[in-house]
Amino acid sequence: MSEPKVYKNLIGGEWVESRSGQTYENRNPADTRDVIGIFQDSNADDINDAVEAAKEAYKHWRLMPAPKRGEILFRAAQLLQERKEQYARDMTREMGKVLRETRGDVQEAIDMGFFMAGEGRRLFGQTTPSEMPNKFQMSIRQPLGVCGLITPWNFPMAIPSWKIFPALIVGNTVVIKPAEDTPLSTYNLVQCLMDAGLPPGVVNIVTGFGPTAGQPLVTHPDVPVISFTGSTETGKIITKLTAEQMKHVSLEMGGKNPMIVMDDADLDLVLEGVLWGAFGTTGQRCTATSRLIVHKAVVGELTERLVERARTIRIGNGLDEQVEVGPVINEQQLETVTRYIGVGRDEGARLLLGGSRAEDGDLRYGYFCQPTIFADVDRTMTIAQEEIFGPVLSIIPVGSLEEAIDVANDVKYGLSSSIYTRDVNKAFQAMRDLYTGIVYVNAPTIGAEIHLPFGGTKATGNGHREGGLQVLDFYSEWKSIYVDYSGRLQRAQIDNAE
Ligand code: NAP
Repeated sequence: MSEPKVYKNLIGGEWVESRSGQTYENRNPADTRDVIGIFQDSNADDINDAVEAAKEAYKHWRLMPAPKRGEILFRAAQLLQERKEQYARDMTREMGKVLRETRGDVQEAIDMGFFMAGEGRRLFGQTTPSEMPNKFQMSIRQPLGVCGLITPWNFPMAIPSWKIFPALIVGNTVVIKPAEDTPLSTYNLVQCLMDAGLPPGVVNIVTGFGPTAGQPLVTHPDVPVISFTGSTETGKIITKLTAEQMKHVSLEMGGKNPMIVMDDADLDLVLEGVLWGAFGTTGQRCTATSRLIVHKAVVGELTERLVERARTIRIGNGLDEQVEVGPVINEQQLETVTRYIGVGRDEGARLLLGGSRAEDGDLRYGYFCQPTIFADVDRTMTIAQEEIFGPVLSIIPVGSLEEAIDVANDVKYGLSSSIYTRDVNKAFQAMRDLYTGIVYVNAPTIGAEIHLPFGGTKATGNGHREGGLQVLDFYSEWKSIYVDYSGRLQRAQIDNAE
């Protein structure tokens, strides 16, 4: 076996070792004998260097015309297209989800690159008439400076792209601390930007662990913007850490997403949707379907068919095109999922499928968990309330649409929800009353497209959105400008009120 490659931090356009002198290994969760690479275990000194480089680069980048910035983003998106297959393979090795899905993850970054490149020629503000004669007024977007980005491992290229591309097009510079488990996919994304001609220091990568590399970025006084995606627990820590400095903070956090199935639903469609929603990405999506809220009239038939089909799901290494579900990300996550399954049993839910680690043959080298289905789940049970982030589905029977919506909303999260029905009235009632940032009709809880706002209510978010044009509001600040060409003092609300 060849020696694993050593990856360095990217600071000011140079690849440099951490000042800590420490590194860590990144291993394939499907086969822990496979070392992806050696990465820098960075500390506050590295963050200081990276922020300094980003501050320096900001002086020039903010003044580059936005259409020119857009051209660099466009070229980066083209390079991502050319390298899509290799990057998807790297990602499957790095975090385990199957190739079909990692290709989708890279595609999401491509889509975001082209979308934001186009914004370079828009970034529209307003012009509006004045109350006064001979006075002109407009609003324009302004960048904020150095943005600190902290990302999770489950969409290791898509999520960094949702943050980096909008931050850059507005004229900000960036320091990113990717998840410790998936730095390579962030490298691949940023490599395309560098190859596309991004000036040194505009994007900097510092790898390492949350408390030692992430936290110094969050608290750095020269980083006015923090964009975080991850767990609600970490989001709360970041909120507290940034409150004193009153930073702009965007938090995208956990979910406990319900799929409602009414008695008139097309059960064939439901079956396909729930398998994809619950077990795609091994259930490790913030939008994964983790609660199946089913009308009592069809719960028996649906449950039977679902268990029969889920039993045949092929688990394994995602590089094998036949495999449908890969491993969970690491040992700790496997323990968490197994613990929740135990709690489900203890609280009286009926385990119909799975429930343990999958260890046959080569699976023993990875962190595999059997697709797991619980029936007769009560809305108050722990497995119906807390985010598990694994391939575990809870089936909750209900008697009416009103009860279904009530159960759906009765969790602390509010990211995504879905309803399957052929009744347009029920669909519209659900669209109105489901208190989540995203609602699907006759589709599972996953499948967002980048040009609509993405984010959630309650403990899922703090009111900002990624995706869509709305993301630009987070990475820019509005400036209102008044130009008086009357040659005299005109007092608003006073001189024109007489
Ligand atoms: P996490 O443990 O909160 O970690 C997210 C990122 O924060 C990682 O880079 C982590 O570093 C870093 N971090 C941890 N502690 C920190 C600290 N004290 N200061 C600064 N940074 C810190 O979450 P995860 O396990 O990677 O991701 C799973 C969670 O993300 C789930 O809850 C999921 O729902 C959520 N998620 C939400 C969305 C959304 O858009 N709403 C999308 C995807 C995922 P390390 O890697 O070293 O731990």
